[in-house]
Amino acid sequence: MALTGGPVWPDGKRSCVMLAFDVDGPSGSAMVDGSIWRMPRLFVQGAYGPFRAVPRILDLLERVGVRATFFVPAWVVEHWPSVCRDIVASGHEIGHHGYKHERYADLSVAEQGSVLERSQAIFEEHLGMRALGFRTPTGDWQKETPRILAEQGFLYSSSFRDDDRPYRRVIEGKVSELVEIPAPVELDDYAYFAYTEEPPFPKGHDRIAAYRVALSNWCKEFDGTHRDGGLLTTTFHPKVSASPGRAVVLERFVQHVVTAGDSWLATGTEVARWVLTHADRFASRGGTPGDELHVGQQ
Ligand SMILES: [Zn+2]
Repeated sequence: MALTGGPVWPDGKRSCVMLAFDVDGPSGSAMVDGSIWRMPRLFVQGAYGPFRAVPRILDLLERVGVRATFFVPAWVVEHWPSVCRDIVASGHEIGHHGYKHERYADLSVAEQGSVLERSQAIFEEHLGMRALGFRTPTGDWQKETPRILAEQGFLYSSSFRDDDRPYRRVIEGKVSELVEIPAPVELDDYAYFAYTEEPPFPKGHDRIAAYRVALSNWCKEFDGTHRDGGLLTTTFHPKVSASPGRAVVLERFVQHVVTAGDSWLATGTEVARWVLTHADRFASRGGTPGDELHVGQQ
């Protein structure tokens, strides 16, 4: 089937880009199980993100005049509140990304609710805001998760890799007000640059990808998305993508997008609100394992 009748974007823009960063810091499975405290090397590699890389990204975004979305585990907000306040003060959005980057597929319904509530309380205490966006840590969740998100007032999730356009999520057979903004693996910097010696990650990956190759791939994905009129979002981690050299690559990618001239650079909440107010132009579907798969119109 041909790709026809794509989404419509504000002001006649041809495509949409949601620049997004996951500020995991040292949170993650090793923090959830406590093993991080026996691996200081891993801890400081993660801490480099909020400590050093996020300020570099904020400078970069100010230079190019672009606002972005930062998904931040609340534990990171508790330990680096100042840089998180700088994110908000610079006009960027902060979204939920777990407390310690828990894997939602491992949490009971009650635990999922309490992680969300605890994190929102920390956002309110330190940042004076509540998150409207959600990106699931580790990429998995449970059948009940979208219903919990909708009940807790979230506007969108940016968790899955199943489309190159946003869509409204079907929850328990009904089209909901929860928007999914899919995030492709091609724009996940872990696929290119994540590297640790011990434990080896990714397994069998013994070198860092060439920077020019990564930049070329990212730009090509934008070019194709722009041609098709779709949406592209990123899963860039400051600790991975904002060393001095990689920040140069990152800035060239953002400039490539900006130079196109007619792509809408938006935060997650702006995209979600646009989808909800132009619902006739966007598909709706379920797609959580255990649900019936509802495939919308092209
Ligand atoms: Zn993450």
